[in-house]
Amino acid sequence: MEFIRSDIAKLSAYAPEVFESPTEPLDKLDANESPFDLPLEIKEKLAWHYQHFLATNRYPSGSHADLQEAIANYVNESASLDAAITPAHISVGNGSDELIRSLLIATCIGGEGAILIAQPTFSVYGIMAQTLGIPAVSVGRSLTDFAMNLSEAEEAIAQTDNPPIRVVFVVHPNSPTANPLTSAELDWLRRLPEHILVVIDEAYFEFSQTSVVGELPQHPNWVVLRTFSKAFRLAAHRVGYCIAHPQLIAALEKIRLPYNLTAFSQAAALVALNHRQLLLQSIPTILSERERLFQALSQHPTLQVWQSAANFLYLRLKTATPEIAQEQHSQFTQALKAQGTLVRSTGGGIRINVGSREENPRAQERVEAFLNRE
Ligand SMILES: *Cc1c(COP(=O)(O)O)cnc(C)c1O
Repeated sequence: MEFIRSDIAKLSAYAPEVFESPTEPLDKLDANESPFDLPLEIKEKLAWHYQHFLATNRYPSGSHADLQEAIANYVNESASLDAAITPAHISVGNGSDELIRSLLIATCIGGEGAILIAQPTFSVYGIMAQTLGIPAVSVGRSLTDFAMNLSEAEEAIAQTDNPPIRVVFVVHPNSPTANPLTSAELDWLRRLPEHILVVIDEAYFEFSQTSVVGELPQHPNWVVLRTFSKAFRLAAHRVGYCIAHPQLIAALEKIRLPYNLTAFSQAAALVALNHRQLLLQSIPTILSERERLFQALSQHPTLQVWQSAANFLYLRLKTATPEIAQEQHSQFTQALKAQGTLVRSTGGGIRINVGSREENPRAQERVEAFLNRE
């Protein structure tokens, strides 16, 4: 179809795992979700709200004022900030994916800028940049601890023009490699000039408990991204938010689709925040399960497993040379899938998310079955 942009025609769509209605339910350890659904009592509160208060014939709140306020309170509380973050510092999106796209539209589209990413990282930044015709410049990471190659990044910023790099994306801790930003990386971000926007994606903040929000007031060119899809167990509802200088928030608000969040999703995020103590009680369980899975997988001499600051582990087969890594790791994911556990082959390794107490030992057995094959 000639009316479709030629670069879009060549792209393939982002394809999450397809379910082939298996006879046994699969252990879903491939998308970094929480293994726990919302507790029934909270679902009942939400259902009550839907039945008695939510008028489906009316558009939802387009301003998200209640949600912005509840998020601002949570952010201040979780970083022990007095009231530094106000609703004017918050924008809410249909998943943080929407906010990533809005940030790109607000900064780079139309030939005005390029983005910088360090591979491997969250694939959405590069994919969305591509769909908007925005160049993405990639730099490498350390093979031992996955810290970004900062001299390569400096060089890329100095050398890239027409368009210049306007946005640097980092994840804290990174997906798929699970490492938090090092102090050298943080220092580098602090020194970046104010005409470059720094996006710090803290999707896994509740697991890592490391955040840069306390530094936002000193850095008007920083934006922190968060989501309800992971620790808050609301992936089905698609709610993400960002925290930034009110001027950047005002620009994002201009770009946002009207009524971008359904009334039900807004209600779900509010209910989750109101019950955050209960919901976040699952974090210590997930962290101790992560430790057990890490210890178990690290025993295996042919696996390299990295320490994690998030709710997933990253590993590589030591036997895989770069040329055959892709193929070996997809054999690994296929073998696990055949046994009933979904994991993700990405960035030249395997990402396994920490599941429930029942799922994790099964994952461990299935990894061992693959390693002991022949
Ligand atoms: C899961 C994840 C998100 C969350 O995206 P949503 O659109 O909010 O579900 C954002 N960033 C990273 C790095 C992630 O891994």
